[in-house]
Amino acid sequence: MIKFGSNYASKIQHLYSNKPFSFAIIGSGPAGLYTAKHLFNDIENINIHIFEQDLCPTGLIRYGMAPDHQRIKRVAEELLTIKQNEHCHYFGGVSIGKDIAINELDQLYSAVFYAYGAQIDKPLNIQGEQLQNVYSARQIVNWYNSHPNYYDLDINFKNKNNIAIIGNGNVALDIARIFGLNQDELQKTDINEISIEKLKNNQINNIIIIGRRGLVQSQFSLKELREMTKLSQFRFLLYKPDLLWSLNEESQTECKDLGVNYGNVTRGNRRKLEFMKSFEIIEDEATMNSILQQDSNGRINVILRFLLTPLEIEKKEDRLNLKLQHNQLAGKPFNQVAMPLNQQSILECDMIIKSVGYQSHNIDNDLPWNSEQNIVDNSDGCIKKDPTKLKTGSYACGWIKTGPKGVIDSTFASSQETIVNFKNHMDADLIRNVHDPYEQVVNLLRQRSINYIDFKVWDRINEFEIEQGQKAKKPRIKLIRNRDLLQFL
Ligand code: NAP
Repeated sequence: MIKFGSNYASKIQHLYSNKPFSFAIIGSGPAGLYTAKHLFNDIENINIHIFEQDLCPTGLIRYGMAPDHQRIKRVAEELLTIKQNEHCHYFGGVSIGKDIAINELDQLYSAVFYAYGAQIDKPLNIQGEQLQNVYSARQIVNWYNSHPNYYDLDINFKNKNNIAIIGNGNVALDIARIFGLNQDELQKTDINEISIEKLKNNQINNIIIIGRRGLVQSQFSLKELREMTKLSQFRFLLYKPDLLWSLNEESQTECKDLGVNYGNVTRGNRRKLEFMKSFEIIEDEATMNSILQQDSNGRINVILRFLLTPLEIEKKEDRLNLKLQHNQLAGKPFNQVAMPLNQQSILECDMIIKSVGYQSHNIDNDLPWNSEQNIVDNSDGCIKKDPTKLKTGSYACGWIKTGPKGVIDSTFASSQETIVNFKNHMDADLIRNVHDPYEQVVNLLRQRSINYIDFKVWDRINEFEIEQGQKAKKPRIKLIRNRDLLQFL
């Protein structure tokens, strides 16, 4: 369970405690809300304004987390207790960098915390990735989570016998699992009825999850894999040559007991490998081909493939041909990469999902940017500023700081590090006092005709969604369209 206690024995009593500080947080996902919560916990006499480009708060919790993980989603309730603080204001539906420039925020606040995550797709850069029936993981995840920009995605599961997912992270597993949920399981989620209707009538026989490196380097976690294998509709399979080629000496080292520095990593690798080895084995190409062509009799085969890189996608009548490059592993243990072999093959499929990770983008040219890593240019959360720009304290939290890696707990830990560094700046008296700029922000948005949702409006939406959900025995029924959400203004 996540703990939200303060690290400070008592709140910071700053030198002029009658003078307030005012902070802006960009993004209302786990990193942004966690930052707000900690700032309120630790520092007295502060105002916090949270800006979010979506109308509804909580970012990835509402639109990214798997909709069958309702228990984990409840972390949102805990994070949103900040709205009880009268000094906390939410501006949902406001895009920083577009509706308000960051140099305007600089004039208004003592410090700005950037926590807007990773909002674009990492491209594959291969021919055919724009074809019909090829989707990015973001499109799919936002579609089944009823994001206003994606709920009407042109997708159907009729005659979609074989689905290939490129990339083997936890998002790939989430998607495969949601695609295979049965009607009872779907009803327990907050997926909307139109999407449920499409999902429950799917005709999927095989989901092929493709990693470019070996079994040991797979990115999904054992916990997620175990959870999925417990669902009786899935049958997990491994291809024998993948297993053999994956277990080179270096990969075996990655599973050995190497002591202190690598203890957790190698133990995790070993356990995941042992678990995967217990899957049914597809002995050869002929058996694989026959599985891919047969009806799977109501179950879904999840075939984990390895050492394959996508090269090109071609349309072939109603289907897609995914051309794959075969790889071998090269490099030292823990740094192995996929090296192409002189061998290619074609996987015929009906839908392809690119689940190769997300990417952050720069929302304003005045924000210092590390374009190699696609993150805000920062050192442990402190943004490296051009001294002529960004006069206010500027900080980064969550995926915009580290890149799109890690579960919710690691996002909290990395935000915590930023807050500690920020508080050192406060202790050193580097942060200026600013009175609550609420009226100025509201006037700015009014002048620019920008409709926004505040916490009071969100409370009404939230109550309505939960009430509608109770009638249908679901956690909630989400309002999808922006115009329906704005009716609560
Ligand atoms: P991820 O874990 O980074 O996985 C991305 C996958 O795409 C990897 O297999 C990667 O292979 C592959 N890949 C990247 N570029 C590629 C390319 N050009 N060609 C082929 N393959 C490529 O990303 P994710 O699944 O989007 O997840 C993001 C983060 O959210 C992760 O830290 C994940 O654990 C977390 N998450 C957690 C949960 C949960 O806890 N339940 C659920 C969802 C997401 P390489 O390894 O070779 O780079």
